[in-house]
Amino acid sequence: MVKKVVPEKDLKTFTKTNELNLFFENTLKDAVDFIERNQLYDVALWKNFVDIFRVQDDGRGDWYVTWRSEFWGKMMRGGSMVTRYTGNEEIYEILENSVRDILSAEDEFGRISGYRPREQFNFWDLWGRKYVLLGLMYFMEISKDDELNEQIIASMCRQADYIIARIGADKLDIRRCAKHWEGLNSCSILEPIVRLYRLTGNKKYFEFAEYIISTGFILSDNLIELAYNNVSPHDFPVVKAYEMMSCFEGLLQFYYITGIDKYKTALINFGKNIINTEFSIIGCSGCTHELFDHTAIKQTQIGYRGIVQETCVTVTWMKFASQLLELTGVSDYADRIEQSFYNAYLGAFNTNRIIHNDKQKKADLNTFSTVLPFDSYSPLVASTRGRATGGYNVLENNSYYGCCACIGSAGAGVIPEIALLNKKNGIVINYYEKGHINSVTPNGSALKLNIDTAYPYNGTVKFSLELEQSEEFEICFRIPSWCDGANVTYKGQTQAVDAGYANLKAIWNNADEITLELPMKVKRILPPEGAVNRDVFAAYTYGPLVLAADKRVTDPDAVLEVVCDDNGFVDAKVVDCPEIKEVHICFEVPLKSGKTARLIDYASAGKTWDDASRLAAWIRIK
Ligand SMILES: [Zn+2]
Repeated sequence: MVKKVVPEKDLKTFTKTNELNLFFENTLKDAVDFIERNQLYDVALWKNFVDIFRVQDDGRGDWYVTWRSEFWGKMMRGGSMVTRYTGNEEIYEILENSVRDILSAEDEFGRISGYRPREQFNFWDLWGRKYVLLGLMYFMEISKDDELNEQIIASMCRQADYIIARIGADKLDIRRCAKHWEGLNSCSILEPIVRLYRLTGNKKYFEFAEYIISTGFILSDNLIELAYNNVSPHDFPVVKAYEMMSCFEGLLQFYYITGIDKYKTALINFGKNIINTEFSIIGCSGCTHELFDHTAIKQTQIGYRGIVQETCVTVTWMKFASQLLELTGVSDYADRIEQSFYNAYLGAFNTNRIIHNDKQKKADLNTFSTVLPFDSYSPLVASTRGRATGGYNVLENNSYYGCCACIGSAGAGVIPEIALLNKKNGIVINYYEKGHINSVTPNGSALKLNIDTAYPYNGTVKFSLELEQSEEFEICFRIPSWCDGANVTYKGQTQAVDAGYANLKAIWNNADEITLELPMKVKRILPPEGAVNRDVFAAYTYGPLVLAADKRVTDPDAVLEVVCDDNGFVDAKVVDCPEIKEVHICFEVPLKSGKTARLIDYASAGKTWDDASRLAAWIRIK
C-alpha cells in the first residue's frame, strides 16, 4: 500500500479548531445543560457502565447477548466532546475518574471487553471494544494529565494487540466475529485502529486497518467498492444505517493517513447518496426499523407500526457529515447537520423527564425505573414519541439504559466543532445562535466574533468583530439552502447572496459589523419525487425548523388545507401557545375553510410521550 505523502491538513478543505473557545446562549446551552444534569453528572451511571467490563456477562448466550459494552465508550466520547466545549471542571473530573476506573477493569489478558474469553469475538464484542477505544481516545483530546495519557495508550495497545493476534487475514475473519449484519458492526473497529496508528506510528495497526479495508466491511460484497461505484446505501446487501456510517467514519480516517483518492470518492458518493436518498424532512434516516431503506420516498408511508428514525442514526450522521464538511468544504453538509440538529435531534430530548414504560420494561418488573435523557425514535407521520427504548439493556444494578441515550451527547458536541472552521486565508461560520466565538486570523492575531440574533426563530444575524489589528482575510458565511433572498451588509454596502458560502474578502478592522438577513417564512414542502402518498401529505418549515401538528393544539390525523401562495409560502403569524409550556415557536396558519390552525416547532411537539401529544411532521392535505 502506498503511504501518503500529502499532510493530512492538505487533504481537508476546512479544518476544525483544536482549542474550542466559544459560547452559545440559546438551544445549544439548553441542550448542553440538560445533558450535563441528566447524564454526565451521574457518577453512579458511569460506575454501572464500567461494571459491565468487570462481570463480562454479555456473551452468556440467552437474549442477554448484548451490546451493553458500547455504553461506556459512547457516553465517554460524547461527554468528552461536550466538555471540550464547556470546560466544565466538575464534569471533567467525573470523566477522568471514570477513565481511571475502566483502565482498572482491564483483565489479565489485556482486554476491556464485556465478554469472557470463551465467548468473545461474537455478537457485539468487537463493537463494544471499539467504543471503549474511542471513548478513551476522545477523553485523551481533553485530558490534562500526560501520565494518564501514557497509561491510556499502553492499555489501548494491549487491547488492540490482543485482537490483532487473533483476527486477520490468516486468522479469524473479522466479519465472522458477529452474528449480525454480516460483520458490519465488528468492522467498524477500523476507526480506533487507524487513530491508534496515528497515536503510536506502529505499523501493525496500519496493517490491521488495511486488512479491515480489504474485507469491504461485509461477507457477501464490498461496501467500499459499492460506494465507489455510486450505489445507493439502500441497495447494499446489508443496510443497517448506524453501523454502516461507523465503518465509513473509519474509512475517512484511513483516507487521511493514505491519501488514496478512491476512498475519497467512495466517501463523497456515500455522503451524497445519504443526502439524496436517505434523508427525511427531520434530518434522519430509516423508515423501516433502523435501516437505510430509501427514506426519502418512504418517509410518507402510512400503516407501518414499527420503529423509525433512530437517534443513533441522527447523531452518527451529524458526526459523519461534520467530517465530510471538513473534507469537502460543501455547505450542504452543514445545512443537513442543522436540519438534523433542530428537528430530529432536539426533538429526541426527554425534556419532560418521562419515565419510559415500554413492553420490555413491563416484562421485567424488577427493573428500576429510569429517566433516559434521549428518546430513541422520532415520528414522521402521525404517531407518538417514546414508543420504545432503542438498544434497551438491563445493567448490573437492575436499572436500564439504551443505545440512543448513550450516543445523544455527541450530537450537541458536533455543533461547537463546526460553528467556526478554518480555511486557507480565512474562516468559515456555520452556526448562527446568539453568543461569541474566539479564534485567530490567518496571520495569527486574536479575533472575536460577537453574534446577536434570535436565530433559529428569526433570520437577522448581526456580527461585530473584535480584532487585535487590521488584517485582510476572508470570512465565509453559510447561506442555508432553505433561504431565498438572503443578503449581507458590511462596510456600508448590502449585497444579495445565494445559498452556499458567501465569501467576504476585505481588510477587516476592529469593531467592524456584518449583518446577515436570512429571510424566514412558513413554507409548504411537498414530498420528493417518487415518494409514497406523495399527493396526500405536506410538511411546513420555517427557516431550519420543521413545524408539527401536536394534538394539544391541532389534530395530527386531520386533513389541513393550509392556504399557500404559488411558491408554497404561507401567510402565517406567530401566536401564543399557552397549552404547551415547552413550545419554542407557534404559528397560526390560515385554512381554506376560513378557519385557522396552529403548528409548533417539531422539536417541542410530542413531549408528553403519549397520545395526549400525538404529533405529525408530514400533515395530511387530503
Ligand atoms: Zn440507538
